[in-house]
Amino acid sequence: MSNDPSVPPTSPDSEWKISTRAVSHGRPAPDPGAPVNESITLSSTFHAGGPLDYGRVGTPTWTALESTLADLESTQSALCFPSGVAAISAVLDLVPVGGVVVAPAHPYSGTRGLLNERQSAGRFTVREYQPSPTADISAELQGADLLWIETPSNPLLEISDIAGLSQQAHAAGALVAIDATFITPYIAQPINFGVDLVVHSVTKFLAGHSDVIMGSVATNSDELATRLHTIRTLGGAIVGPFEAFLALRGIRTLGVRMDRSIANAQTIAERLLTLPVVEKVRYPGLSSHPGHDLAMATTGAGAVVCFEVHSADQAEAIAESTRLWTHATSLGGVESLIERRARWPFEHPDVPSNLIRLSVGIEDVDDLWNDLYQAISAHS
Ligand SMILES: *Cc1c(COP(=O)(O)O)cnc(C)c1O
Repeated sequence: MSNDPSVPPTSPDSEWKISTRAVSHGRPAPDPGAPVNESITLSSTFHAGGPLDYGRVGTPTWTALESTLADLESTQSALCFPSGVAAISAVLDLVPVGGVVVAPAHPYSGTRGLLNERQSAGRFTVREYQPSPTADISAELQGADLLWIETPSNPLLEISDIAGLSQQAHAAGALVAIDATFITPYIAQPINFGVDLVVHSVTKFLAGHSDVIMGSVATNSDELATRLHTIRTLGGAIVGPFEAFLALRGIRTLGVRMDRSIANAQTIAERLLTLPVVEKVRYPGLSSHPGHDLAMATTGAGAVVCFEVHSADQAEAIAESTRLWTHATSLGGVESLIERRARWPFEHPDVPSNLIRLSVGIEDVDDLWNDLYQAISAHS
């Protein structure tokens, strides 16, 4: 194929970049007079004899979203779930009774909650590993059924080697699932690093506007896709058509939002480094971050920045003193959010009490910096 950008490739669809596919996929056929967007289908049942039968099993608004998610992740299929944790829960349902799950020591707090809850119920055993760019977890993986990866991790922003860990897991006969919420398919497709199941909190960067709660699982395995579909259909926790519409609408702008948020995050992280009151900045885009090289070569740095000040009280006061940054939990929306993570009693004790997590949005970066700077200065 020609490298000259003025010479179009012969089969345009497969050559399109992710930001283009996010815009173009999951639309109705271009028949004259047809709508350009998939409609919100409000019907619990469908006329007999066709491809659709009952709304808990499938509905056209999901199909548009799921085919787009699968396309963006370069997988054969993707399924939407009513939240990120519902997607995680469905993946954990794939583990046989009495099986072994190998999971990072500090995953997203909801993931840790689910793992602990199921372990104490006797459903499976959890073995923890310490994530690092060079982690060798072959000992933990002996006899394991599922490896869980989260990179960059929430909120400590630890970086794992997706390809290396996947290889170790497959050598031990374990499936590999990744929580790719912080990465998004615009930056990288974990399936290409060898994972079996790609999980998202669609709530965050994919939907991108803090107006919908949703999760997804993407996979190249027909067998796993069928099992997950059965788990969803029988478990009965499904996505409403309106939420599916909102998520797909959000995905249309994934590329421009990620470009802007990540660029803003890099600038904010670099400026935070210059403030004496800031004891530590955690951001994979900084060369001081232990996972910097690996992150830049694989998942990118993301749009979440954490920093530590002298005390928990100071951190709390800063989070209360911003005007533009919204003091709220969550991340991945167009609007920037700030919170002290350890305000939550369920957060891992390894998360420092003075750590502030920023979800950097798409506002003007100087407006963001000026507001953060005044809040920090007011409490220095
Ligand atoms: C928010 C989050 C989840 C959970 O998603 P919900 O949509 O809130 O259920 C899972 N993983 C990560 C990394 C998250 O940030």
